[in-house]
Amino acid sequence: MGDKSVKQPVLALKDFLTGSPPGTLCSVRLTGVAAGISVQFKVPVLNLYCTDEACEDFTQFDPNVSERTVHVNPDADIFISYRCRHCRRSQKTYALRITEAESFTLNEIVEARILKYGELPEVNLALTSRISKLIGQDRDFFYKGVKAECSGLGIAAFTYYRRVVENQKDRIFDEIIKVCKRLGVTGDIVAELEKAKKETQFTKAVGLIKSELPDSLKIDNHNPLTLLHDALSDSIHNASDEDCLALAQSIRVVLSKLAENLNFALQQKAELMGAVNLLLNRKNKNSSPEKPANGSTKTD
Ligand SMILES: [Zn+2]
Repeated sequence: MGDKSVKQPVLALKDFLTGSPPGTLCSVRLTGVAAGISVQFKVPVLNLYCTDEACEDFTQFDPNVSERTVHVNPDADIFISYRCRHCRRSQKTYALRITEAESFTLNEIVEARILKYGELPEVNLALTSRISKLIGQDRDFFYKGVKAECSGLGIAAFTYYRRVVENQKDRIFDEIIKVCKRLGVTGDIVAELEKAKKETQFTKAVGLIKSELPDSLKIDNHNPLTLLHDALSDSIHNASDEDCLALAQSIRVVLSKLAENLNFALQQKAELMGAVNLLLNRKNKNSSPEKPANGSTKTD
């Protein structure tokens, strides 16, 4: 563990920023040049999880400046700030200490020792209302899953997400039942969902559902419960970290999209009811005058 002789891998700056927790001191590969104490390097675009309601997904984050020059004399403390390209709201800042830097000028590669001593916001602190409503108190596990996913830890990410889905089975079913009732869906689906909810295991519960969910809850024409069921039923016993990462990503995307669809379905229903009520009120007003002509209203 504390063996200093163990050779650490050299990480690309992009992977170091997104994948290393604060406190990591690592050899990092920069694209640029080092001359004397001066190091000039390119700041890469990052693929980060954006928690803004408009995104709730991995998006491109652009650095506020695309190139930096620092003096390593003896150390350089710098902040690198980012903003989400899609929503232009979410920001991310890293605090780094660059110590040694060695240039390999032929291919514009600089190898530096960099300590990441902070990052804001921490991925598990940010939370959005839609996903939070769907997964309730397991939001911490969800963001640990996101963190693991960001770091390329497939087995960990899959395990966290599976825990969220299994723990919050009742809540996920309740939210879907609520929307089906609000939409006035006919047929057996509500009864089936209520019966299935009593199963302790998520995958078994989903197996009991035979009727179709409303189209507004489907993802790309697929039942989101079936998609989750398929991702969770895969045995990860012998699966590679890479395969688990792909499965974990599918689970996160489906959960996020389901949360969005549930929210959107309720919102649309509310808007529709508002519009219908407005028209009905107008019709009533027009058919029965507000003030009766015979003067039965109270006057002073
Ligand atoms: Zn965003």
